[in-house]
This record gives sequence, structure tokens and C-alpha cells, in this order.
Amino acid sequence: MKTPFINKEQLDAICKEYPTPFHIYDEKGIRENARKLHQAFSWNPGFKEYFAVKATPNPTILRILKEEGCGTDCSSYTELMMSEKCGFSGSDIMFSSNETPAEEFIYAAKLGATINLDDITHIDFLKETIGAIPKRISCRYNPGGQFAIANTIMDNPGDAKYGLTRPQMTEAYKRLKELGAEEFGMHAFLASNTVTNDYYPTLAKLLFQTAVELKNETGVQISFINLSGGIGIPYTPDKEPNDILAIGEGVRKAYEEVLVPAGMGDVAIYTELGRFMLAPYGHLVTKAVHEKHTHKEYIGVDACAVNLMRPAMYGAYHHITVMGKEDAPHTETYDIVGSLCENNDKFAIDRQLPKIEKGDLLVIHDTGAHGFAMGYNYNGKLKSAELLLCEDGNTKMIRRAETPADYLATLEGFWDVEL
Ligand SMILES: *Cc1c(COP(=O)(O)O)cnc(C)c1O
Repeated sequence: MKTPFINKEQLDAICKEYPTPFHIYDEKGIRENARKLHQAFSWNPGFKEYFAVKATPNPTILRILKEEGCGTDCSSYTELMMSEKCGFSGSDIMFSSNETPAEEFIYAAKLGATINLDDITHIDFLKETIGAIPKRISCRYNPGGQFAIANTIMDNPGDAKYGLTRPQMTEAYKRLKELGAEEFGMHAFLASNTVTNDYYPTLAKLLFQTAVELKNETGVQISFINLSGGIGIPYTPDKEPNDILAIGEGVRKAYEEVLVPAGMGDVAIYTELGRFMLAPYGHLVTKAVHEKHTHKEYIGVDACAVNLMRPAMYGAYHHITVMGKEDAPHTETYDIVGSLCENNDKFAIDRQLPKIEKGDLLVIHDTGAHGFAMGYNYNGKLKSAELLLCEDGNTKMIRRAETPADYLATLEGFWDVEL
């Protein structure tokens, strides 16, 4: 059973002020979850979560997470800009990019961000671009093959474009050391949206063992290990959420088993979670505007895939609650569809739901991460507003909706002609 973090009465009041569709985020939920993550890793004095900005690039969200002790993980120029504006600096910023343009390395270095290199050739590229290798540097590891837990294949790192191979890791640390780096980190992101408490502990053990080997092979001092993102959330109501305390404990066990005996008991653990930090704490709120009875039963809503791309892009399931009909029997089978001229613009296909009337508000769950952020402007559709349900129960707008003028602003000469 999935319940919205907001009730119908609250939502009706909000909709009087802000037209649908919009994304709304739950400050209380975000803060409580961030505190639980910190509790789970409190055994590690250097622990830090660098929130993956790409999941929810909104300064208000970043400031909330900053207050909860998080840094940011950036992968582009504008994400760095946003981090700088929000007061993150130096060791608060991780720069985990790939195929990185020179100006992004220059900006990251200027901010004193920790640069996480995605390829061995980026060592020389970075040196040429910014003049020297920073004292503190990290490399992204890709072990290749398949990443499996208890005979379950979670993902195929061998097919992923990211990271350095195992032999390249050795070569890279040697070279970085020669070029003056003093403090080394290691990073890997091998599976996404994992709904198992074993992902991080299994990944951690692999990275810890590799870190010990690298120290022995190259003599470098590994001071942090970044487990990156990948902890998932249960999008479907039948799945159990991850237990972050069990995950933290699993990583601690691997740490005690591998790093401590190797004299590396001072290594800091970092994470770069996006989905786990935000996804459950966002809803896309949309209104039923049409119903259509043809070969199937359709409910047309005022949001479309530009507001939430995951169903169209990955066939991803997002739970839907019809507000005010939470306890009504699910007697209908609907496709819930948006207005794009693309037949994959469907938030749900053959979904059992209560009878929907025009004007009903629908909450689409778990849109707090990789929701608004993946928005686009196909069909000339505009991006929605983002609202925050504050801890005190008030609502505030943290990004206004796009207007036609925003959409048309980049057209050379468009405004020279009177409409
Ligand atoms: C996308 C991304 C993350 C966040 O991933 P989630 O699955 O949202 O936790 C972290 N680090 C890097 C480098 C990423 O590209």
C-alpha cells in the first residue's frame, strides 16, 4: 500500500493557488531520510553523502540537504554553478563526469571540487587543461563483466561506458602519484535502482579489496571510497523498501573484514545517492481532463511525458493514487495518458483503478528523483512548477512553471515579428 504524503484537502487548497500539473516535494520526508542515512553510516567518521544533483536539480532541495550535512555530486557545468550558488565549495563537491568538456574541469578545479576521473586518458587531459593534477583526486573503477549478488545478475558493467579497467587503475594511480597527487579516492557505480540490502555491502567489499591491492601495488594512500548511487526504492507497492541501517551495517562488516586488517581503518566512505534521497518524497500531481472509450479505456491527464519521462523511456512503473478515492474498489482498467503525439506517453497501461471522473486529482508517486529533472520540451510542452510542502505544513513554490516566452526565448529573431 502506497499512501501520498499529502491528503486531498491539502491538495485541493494547493490547487486553488497553483494550477496542475506540478511536482511537489516533502521536506519532512527528505530530512528524516537523510538523517537515517547518516545514522546508518555514523560508524565511519569521514562519511559524507554527495547528493547526485542530476536527480533533483533545485537549489531549495540542495540547501535542505546541505543543512542535513550533505555535499553535491555534479556532472556538468550548470550543476557546478548551482552547487556554488547554494554555498557548497571545495570538499563539499564531487565532480563525477564523463566525456568531460575542458571548461567543466576548469570550473570544477576552480571550485576545489574533488575530481573523479572516468578514464585514464583524462589524467593528461586534466593536466593540460588546468595546468597540474590536483592534490586530491579520484578514479572511477569499472571491473567489467557482470555484477552479480547471490547468482542474481544486477547489471553489466562490461557494457557500461564508464570507468577504468583494473589494470588501468594501477597505472592511473602510479601516474597520478608521479604527477604530484597526494590523496586518492576510488569510485564505482555498478548497478542502478537496486532493491536489495546486499548491493552496497557487496560493492564495498569489492572496492575495499581493490583498494588494498592498489595500495600494495602503487604505494598510494587511499583516503576515501565512494560507493556512488544505486540504492533503489520500491516503485511498486508489493516491494519492501531497502533497510538503510542494515545496508550501513553490511558495509561496516566489509570494512572491518578487509580494510581494518590492512591498516586502512581511516578510509572515509562516501555515497552519491540520488534516487534514494529524493524519489519517494516527490509526487507529480495531475488532473484528469478527458476520458476516451475506444479500443481501450483512456483517462487523459494534464501532465505528459515531458513532466515525467520514466514510464515512456523505461516502461517504469509509477504508482497512482486517485485522491479522495483511496479506499474505493479498483473496478476499472485504464491507460492513463498525456497529450504528446507519441504513443508511449502513458503514465500507466492497463492499470486497475477506481472509477475516475473528469476533475479528479491524481498523485503519481515516487517522482522526486529523475522526475522533473529529465523533463524536456517535445511538442512545445512546457515544464511544470516545483513546489515544496514545508515542514510547517505550508507550501512554497521553488520553481515557477515555464511560460511560452521561456520556450521561445532562444529563437533568433522570433520577437522581432509582432504576434
Ligand atoms: C546518476 C548518478 C548517481 C545517482 O544515482 P541514483 O541511482 O539516483 O542513486 C550517482 N553518481 C553518479 C556518477 C551518477 O551518474
